[in-house]
Amino acid sequence: RNTGRAGGINPDSGGVIDAKNLRVKLVLLGDSGVGKSCIVLRFVRGQFDPTSKVTVGASFLSQTVALQDSTTVKFEIWDTAGQERYAALAPLYYRGAAVAVVVYDITSPESFTKAQYWVKELQKHGSPDIVMALVGNKADLQEKREVPVQDGIDYAEKNGMFFIETSAKTADNINQLFEEIAKRLPRPSPT
Ligand code: GDP
Repeated sequence: RNTGRAGGINPDSGGVIDAKNLRVKLVLLGDSGVGKSCIVLRFVRGQFDPTSKVTVGASFLSQTVALQDSTTVKFEIWDTAGQERYAALAPLYYRGAAVAVVVYDITSPESFTKAQYWVKELQKHGSPDIVMALVGNKADLQEKREVPVQDGIDYAEKNGMFFIETSAKTADNINQLFEEIAKRLPRPSPT
């Protein structure tokens, strides 16, 4: 079931493969160091491997989620590879994205503030029907927590986002994150 691989597909591709199978572009946004690459590698390869980062832009991994109603969603997951620092590039990056996952680190209030900046950017420049998720990562570091879970819940609710706390390190809620997104994607009505 592991379909992770790099490159080869038109970045603007996406949408419906057939009535039951979707293919969508998913972008990750958030401060450098919050764990975006680790979340993707955990989801796609089932590993926690902080050393095998994507080091160049314009590369992605894909992974398919099968839902209980036998529909599937193939995520084409784009990693910023550090380009989140260059705000001017961002609209190019999330063009055509059906899903945006905005990540912060629960031990870093600065990263939570930055996440809110990205949400505003997406609201301004993203596709109007984009599905947005807010992710508080590094949930294994409870003793170092500085962002209360309720702050994440409240912000996400106000902005119509799905919210979850994850740990790429322990794998907690990583699959759930992508499954919940898959369930929330708009589907073409059957004809
Ligand atoms: P990115 O810059 O957002 O892509 O962040 P990375 O995925 O490179 O992760 C940055 C650092 O955070 C790495 O050193 C990881 O080891 C660490 N990290 C990522 N996810 C977790 C997590 O869930 N728990 C803990 N404890 N550390 C994590």
